[in-house]
Amino acid sequence: MSELVMVEQRRESGGGASLWIREGDERVPGRDSDARLTALRTGLARHPGVRALDADAADATVARTLGALHDPSYLEALDRLEGEEPVVMPEFAPPGLEPDIPVNAALVAVAREGVRTAISAAQRTLAGAEFTYAVCRPPGHHAGPAFHAGYCYLNNAAAAVLTLLGGGLAPVGVLDLDLHYPNGTSALLDRLPGRIGAGPAAVLHSLHAAPVTNVPAGAVLPRLAGERALAFEGTPDADAYLAEVAASVAELAAGAAAVVVSLGYDTVRGDPHGSWSLEPEAYARIGALLGACGRPICIVQEGGYALDALAACAHAFAAGLLGDRGCPFPAHAAERTTT
Ligand SMILES: [Zn+2]
Repeated sequence: MSELVMVEQRRESGGGASLWIREGDERVPGRDSDARLTALRTGLARHPGVRALDADAADATVARTLGALHDPSYLEALDRLEGEEPVVMPEFAPPGLEPDIPVNAALVAVAREGVRTAISAAQRTLAGAEFTYAVCRPPGHHAGPAFHAGYCYLNNAAAAVLTLLGGGLAPVGVLDLDLHYPNGTSALLDRLPGRIGAGPAAVLHSLHAAPVTNVPAGAVLPRLAGERALAFEGTPDADAYLAEVAASVAELAAGAAAVVVSLGYDTVRGDPHGSWSLEPEAYARIGALLGACGRPICIVQEGGYALDALAACAHAFAAGLLGDRGCPFPAHAAERTTT
């Protein structure tokens, strides 16, 4: 029976719940907290094919990986933060955009644990696990070489990619299925050294909502060689969306040794930062596509803030990925709490 290795984030860092995020001209209360991890874990652990492990990548590995991804001046500025006082650092907003989140030492500490979780999952992939899932927070895909935004301070998915490449799994396909365009991941993958004569070390596909608000107005997507950036106007029909997911999974699996999936559940109906209306069952179909693609899959959690839906989303995904074998809870859609 296939197995999904669920890598759990260390919680001793004090929580570091997000404080606020700017949406348009308004500051709204932040929605990233450990409650998300609890809900995701609950949904995944309900599947008998899921095995839980603690994030165990060494401090030195985390530091080395971050140093290879983010600019030294950025990491040093984050390290210098002390205490709980949130500060806005406009110098570290994405190029051409206004800052949208504050930062403090606790948020940096939890972001570092998120990176540790993603690296640990990738290490299990390198060790031969068919499917791994980093249950991490905050999300990372809006964090670039020297910028943070959208709850993201350090890039978890890019850390997983670098770990896989460092272990000899190359090239890596990156599939971002969060509602939002991964501006940070794209910027970081752009700086990876290419493989001589063999194309890029990592190829990014992103399916996301239009308009794309996390790149400067007028920016042209896709940004990178081989990148696929597919924006959906309005709420996509689930079948149409899944057909595009299938096309990306097939293309990435054909060309990559492993696939890192930046998985966001902010595409689900009712997500407080979302606008789409996918049902949890859609993630079972995504999981099934990935589970059948023939490549090792390393999942890294991105967004998804509907606390009443996250367990159902994660459980449906695991059931699809594992082919629903032996799962006593097949009625994913019915598990959702109605509000
Ligand atoms: Zn998102």
